[in-house]
Order: sequence, then structure tokens, then C-alpha cells
Amino acid sequence: MRLIFLGPPGVGKGTQADFISHKYKIPKLSTGDLLRESVLKETALGKEAKGYMTRGELVPDAIVIGLVDEKLSSSECQNGFLLDGFPRTVGQADQLSNNLASLGKNLDRVIYFSLSKPEIIRRISGRRSCPQCKAVYHLESIPPKKSGICDVCGITLVQRNDDMPETIEARLAVYQEQTAPLINYYKERHILGELDGAGLVSEVQARLVALLPPTRVE
Ligand code: AMP
Repeated sequence: MRLIFLGPPGVGKGTQADFISHKYKIPKLSTGDLLRESVLKETALGKEAKGYMTRGELVPDAIVIGLVDEKLSSSECQNGFLLDGFPRTVGQADQLSNNLASLGKNLDRVIYFSLSKPEIIRRISGRRSCPQCKAVYHLESIPPKKSGICDVCGITLVQRNDDMPETIEARLAVYQEQTAPLINYYKERHILGELDGAGLVSEVQARLVALLPPTRVE
């Protein structure tokens, strides 16, 4: 099972990706997570990516493609993968398609998550995450048991610095300009499934499973 989750920031891709990764037993590859890890570790790549991420811009294709390529050819991705937040440009999508072709593989499905702008802003503004286990909460919709504290690790939750109001608009504009064209790109290739991202996590989950090949679900 080789999947892509496509859609604007804050639409719920990461939350649903965790669920599908567990259900299908395929690794979730989130370029956002990989980049944040590199920034935290202060690697050369992280230092290069940091400024783009803080401004809500895309990190240059060459950097991101290198990160993904390494993972896709590893044994971890032998039985499939779920790409969350990649590709984000037509250049990345072309490169991915070439790389998969050279590995003798293809994509099974691209799921496009849609959501209204006010709801995206509400979700991003309330998003908090655990710096240790990366669990994601929402102040109103998915609150932790104890305010501001991770249920699993018991440590203080943080807000991503690119989730601040001034950066959200920039990220949405970048999405419209550079990533939204991928909706048609994959529609033309007949592998796009459209998912309404509104509602409860469980409701979106049920709609999502219905869009995936039923025979592969446990
Ligand atoms: P995300 O966690 O997916 O919202 O990604 C956070 C940030 O990481 C984005 O705003 C970009 O700066 C960067 N990023 C993540 N994935 C990509 C990608 N595929 N291409 C370029 N930049 C990316």
C-alpha cells in the first residue's frame, strides 16, 4: 500500500496518517516531522531548512527530495508507505514518480483532504503537541486530560512556532500557489480520492477507510 495524504496545513492529515499507518502496518513518512527533527538536532540540513519553515515557506525541493529518497529505498518501506506532506510541488511529484518507477513501484492512492479556511485556522490555532512523543492535541476538540500536559509523557505541550497566527496565512497562501495544483495532477492520473476533512476525528476516519481499497483493510 503506497499512499499520499495531500491537503492544506491543519486539515488533519497527520492525525489520520497515524491511524492508517497503524491499521495498514505501513510507515508514515512526514517530511514536516523529518525536517523538525533535523532542526532540533541542528544538522546541516536542519540549519538550512529552519528559516524557510519559520517563515511558513517551502523548503527547497532538492533538500526535501533527498530526505524522502533515502527513506523510500530503505527496507522500512518494503511493504508500502504513507507520505504525509510530500509531495508539495509539481517538481517533487515528478521526482517521486521517477524514483518509484526506478524502484519498480507505483502509487496506489492519493487522498486529498478538504476543509474550509475558517475551520483550518481554528484547528491550527488550537493545535498543541508533545515535544517528546509528538502526540497532537487540540485545545477544544482533543484536549489532554490535564490542561497543557501530554497524556502519555506527562510533559508540557508546546505550540509549533509556524502555527502562530502571523505564519498561518503565509502557509495557506504557499499551499494555494504551490501545492494545490497537485490535486489536478493526481486527478489526471486517476488515483485521487477526495475526503471531506470536516467533523470529528472518528467521522473523518470512517470516510477515509471507505476511500481505501477494502481488501487491504484488516
Ligand atoms: P508540516 O508539518 O507538513 O506542516 O510541515 C512544516 C513545514 O516544513 C512546512 O511549512 C515547510 O516549511 C516544511 N515542509 C514540510 N514538507 C515539505 C515539503 N514536502 N516540501 C517543502 N517544504 C516542506
